[in-house]
Amino acid sequence: MPFRCYRCGRCCTAIGPYITIHAREKDTFFCTSSMTGERFFGCLTGSGKEVFDDTSIFSAFPDACPFLRAGDTENTYICVIYDTMPSHCKNFACYVILIKDSRGLVVGKVRNNRLLSTDDEDLRSLYNADILPIQSKNEVIWQKEAKKILVGSGYKVTM
Ligand code: SF4
Ligand code: SF4
Repeated sequence: MPFRCYRCGRCCTAIGPYITIHAREKDTFFCTSSMTGERFFGCLTGSGKEVFDDTSIFSAFPDACPFLRAGDTENTYICVIYDTMPSHCKNFACYVILIKDSRGLVVGKVRNNRLLSTDDEDLRSLYNADILPIQSKNEVIWQKEAKKILVGSGYKVTM
């Protein structure tokens, strides 16, 4: 199952302090991301050109990325430089379940494509044996079932 972005914008609403626009030439912005030190040229594309000047989003999210704008449906958001976003954005896949051990240390994350990211072999075995086979096609039910199994095995779960 491929990773699916629901355009909730959650990953972009606090990243503004890390993205600096140094210069603009028409629809192209020369920028730096202080998260990685990456320098990149962000180019407005598609509907991004039409909505860039509407900065109303920043009254609700003052720390949003300078390239985040409201989407065309309620509670959705778009990246106005989608094709030229920095690499940490291209590689990002948010998680739907954060798994901690009994001491509270993060030991795994589950993406919304149901893939587990972990270095904990016990957790991986449990996941492969009991959680991946859960049949539900409904993501909310699937996540609740997964949580029940993880908590029953001594893990702490945040969703
Ligand atoms: S990557 Fe995840 S958090 Fe970011 S907009 Fe998509 S669904 Fe939301
Ligand atoms: S560049 Fe685009 S994807 Fe990256 S944080 Fe900004 S709005 Fe989000």
